[in-house]
Amino acid sequence: MADVVVVGAGPAGIAAARAVRECGKTAVVLDDNPAAGGQIWRGDPIVLEGLRAGTRVLGPWQLQCENVILATGARELFLPFPGWTLPNVMGAGGLQALVKGGLPVRSKRVIVAGSGPLLLVVAAYLKEQGAHVLFVAEQAPVRQMVVLGKHPAKLWQGLRLRSQLESVPYRTECWPVSAEGTTQLLSVTMHHAGENWTERCDYLACSFGLVPNLELPALFGCEIRDGVVVVDEQQRTSVPNVFAAGEITGVGGVDKASEEGRVAGLVSAGRTAHCRRSSFPDTLRRAFALRSELRHLAERETILCRCEDVPVGAARSFDSWSAAKLQTRCGMGPCQGRICGPAAEFLCGWGADSVRPPLYPASLEELLSKKLLDE
Ligand SMILES: Cc1cc2nc3c(=O)[nH]c(=O)nc-3n(C[C@H](O)[C@H](O)[C@H](O)COP(=O)(O)OP(=O)(O)OC[C@H]3O[C@@H](n4cnc5c(N)ncnc54)[C@H](O)[C@@H]3O)c2cc1C
Repeated sequence: MADVVVVGAGPAGIAAARAVRECGKTAVVLDDNPAAGGQIWRGDPIVLEGLRAGTRVLGPWQLQCENVILATGARELFLPFPGWTLPNVMGAGGLQALVKGGLPVRSKRVIVAGSGPLLLVVAAYLKEQGAHVLFVAEQAPVRQMVVLGKHPAKLWQGLRLRSQLESVPYRTECWPVSAEGTTQLLSVTMHHAGENWTERCDYLACSFGLVPNLELPALFGCEIRDGVVVVDEQQRTSVPNVFAAGEITGVGGVDKASEEGRVAGLVSAGRTAHCRRSSFPDTLRRAFALRSELRHLAERETILCRCEDVPVGAARSFDSWSAAKLQTRCGMGPCQGRICGPAAEFLCGWGADSVRPPLYPASLEELLSKKLLDE
């Protein structure tokens, strides 16, 4: 049996596993993707010893070992607006992942919209791949984003991306109102400076920030506060021998994820190490806080839960996420509320529900093979 089991092979999990090995101990890394890299290094050739790719962890009962490092990362936040379920309306990172996987976007007209630094990263990547990026629409106002000046290195990264985008306009206080089309996206209606206008396009790459993947830490019983796993300077969670690193302790990008992963790896292998706490995750949260107008984009019949086809109006007629789930099956489909849960939280102010195992729909065979690590 390995000395340490790491869940997630993104920057945090990779740094953790390498640090464990550096200490002469063994690490197994489990990731549900076909290769290591996580969100940012998806598709890059990464050699990682002890990797068991294509392995999805359903719950803590599968991980019988002395030390666990949770590095499960984050996903995009999608907010419903009329037409958001049309083909070719995608997550910003989602479209980037498809292009990395071979989807051709040369000469395609793309609008990148929503909120956060990921929009610039994706727009620059798509432009490099030959897409015609019409503009980037950021919902936050400039006066809210000036706090980013407290982190000059990050601001510099943003300005570098901006310069790669040259002639592509970056519109602040701008957001999608609706997407139009019948069988697929044809145009998007945008709002900016009190006016709406419609733009023809092939893709809308749209997300409103990142949501940490807290389901597995929650099942482990780790303390979660303000939407992140609580850790000390050694990346220990509130549960003995369970460590957390990366986006799940606060969305802060690749450098933070790598540093935290390394500290978690060293400490779990018996060394002493400490993480410098950065205020960057908090700055990001303030800079890209979502405006209230986004709560009112969806109409009664706009789909909220796309797995179970539940409209916003049906869910909103209840007073809690649990009641909406019980009465409408909202959040009960294959994604288990990963998409509609955070959207409902933003739209209705509902607190998150308790998490139950298994974390993903699973076959009987998967459930019966209780331990992943015995195989
Ligand atoms: C869609 C998307 C695209 C992004 N693209 C960029 C980009 O291009 N540039 C950039 O700077 N930042 C990007 N980011 C931000 C990025 O998340 C961080 O910069 C960094 O990758 C975080 O590292 P991490 O190790 O914490 O998490 P991640 O890189 O997210 O890695 C977590 C890994 O854990 C796996 N996992 C989660 N749960 C389980 C489970 N139960 N069982 C098995 N495996 C599991 C995930 O599949 C994933 O591979 C992106 C974020 C998202 C959501």
